[in-house]
Amino acid sequence: MKQDSDNYVALGFGKDYAWIDLANSLEWNGFGKLTDRLQDPAWASHIVKHWNLAPPPPRPAPLAQLIALRTLLRRMAEKLIAGEALDERDLNALNSYLNVLVRVKLFQRQNGVHSELVPLRPGWPWILSRIAASFVEMMELNRPDRLKYCPNEGCKWIFYDRTKANTRRWCNDRTCGNRDRVRRSRSRDKTTTRTKSSKSD
Ligand SMILES: [Zn+2]
Repeated sequence: MKQDSDNYVALGFGKDYAWIDLANSLEWNGFGKLTDRLQDPAWASHIVKHWNLAPPPPRPAPLAQLIALRTLLRRMAEKLIAGEALDERDLNALNSYLNVLVRVKLFQRQNGVHSELVPLRPGWPWILSRIAASFVEMMELNRPDRLKYCPNEGCKWIFYDRTKANTRRWCNDRTCGNRDRVRRSRSRDKTTTRTKSSKSD
C-alpha cells in the first residue's frame, strides 16, 4: 500500500537496499544528535515488512545480532566509500550470516511457473541472511563509487546514488542540502560585511 510505504520512508526506510536501512538505523539528526532506532522494538518488524523479508517471525528480534550485523555492514560500507579493499575477516563474517539452508520452491502463477528461494527454517537467521544478501547484491554491481555518505558531518546518512550521472550529494536536498546552502550564504554575507567594515576603517 502506498500509504504504508510512505510511512516507512518517514520512519527512515529507503528504497535502495535492506542493509542500508539497517545501517541507517543508527541515525544522526543532521546536528549530530544520535538515535538508535533499533532500540524501538517495532523497528525490526518494520524492516521485515517494508522489504517483505519473511512472514512475521515468531520470536522477538535478536537485538544483539542485529546490532552486530549493523556494525559489520557500516564498517564494510566505510571501506567501500573510502575506496579501500574489504577485509577478508569481514567477508567471512558476512558469509556466516548467509549460511542458512534454503531450497528452491516452484509456484504456479497466472503468467507461468515461477521459482523462489525459501528457507528450510523460517525465522531470524533467514531474515539476517536476506539483509546480508542485499549488501552482496550491491557489491556485485561493482559500483562502490555510488555508495556515499551525506557530507553533513552531523548526519552521515548512507545512501546509494541512483542518479544517472552519479551526482547526488545529500541524504535529502531539502534538509542537509538546504542547511549547507544557508550556511554558505551566511558565511558569504559575513565576509562581505567584514570586507565592507575593513574598507571603512
Ligand atoms: Zn544528511
